[in-house]
Amino acid sequence: MERRELLYEGKAKQVYRTADPDLLIQHFKDDATAFNAQKRGTIASKGIINNRTSEVFFKLLEEHGVATHFVRRLSDRDMLIRSCDIVKIEVVARNIIAGSLAKRLGRPEGELLSEPVLEHYLKDDALGDPMINDWHIRVLRLATAPELQTINETALKVNAILREFLDARGIVLVDMKLEFGRHQGKMLLADEICPDTCRFWDKATSEKLDKDRFRRDLGGVEEAYQEVARRICGVAL
Ligand code: UDP
Repeated sequence: MERRELLYEGKAKQVYRTADPDLLIQHFKDDATAFNAQKRGTIASKGIINNRTSEVFFKLLEEHGVATHFVRRLSDRDMLIRSCDIVKIEVVARNIIAGSLAKRLGRPEGELLSEPVLEHYLKDDALGDPMINDWHIRVLRLATAPELQTINETALKVNAILREFLDARGIVLVDMKLEFGRHQGKMLLADEICPDTCRFWDKATSEKLDKDRFRRDLGGVEEAYQEVARRICGVAL
């Protein structure tokens, strides 16, 4: 499957058309941004690692009955996906308090939540992805009530599956961001699932193995991404 014209270019990915109108190619770059693109950089091999970890997670989720946009990995940096109408909501699933939740509620990072929490943000870079609630989603017609129910149930299921898988590999899934898209009347899990979009902490040491190393200038960014690749994909990339 060959890339045709560039359809969309984001901070970390490009999306290309293919000869099949139903299929797109998602290309993963090494570019990294944080704080709504105020901080920019590159993380060597990040695109390869994000493509490979997303492949592992999408395959695992498909095996557990979660419908995703993943078709197959084409190369180091290219993934074949189903073309979807992306829902303009970013869903965050949290197991442990960190990041914006710690700030918003004035609580220390690392506090275990008694059960997973879901949050919804409007997918709008210009506005800095503001938090929204069920009312905004319904009244502004970002998703119908049944669509939102499917999205929320799927997000909790994805969280449970990935938590268990990662735990067995010595990684705590602190939180993650998920996106969804409509495809032929079905809601599919879309985008990517990787150290850019999840918080991964080492189970033994709580060392951060994700994009927070870049966001917070903690050093060892590439090494952390490689460690995630080793534990999730079984190889350094
Ligand atoms: N996240 C993301 N994209 C965003 C915002 C958040 O992938 O635009 C992920 C982030 O990596 C973390 C989770 O969503 O795993 C929760 O992020 P949080 O709300 O704590 O925001 P942050 O502290 O990253 O600003």
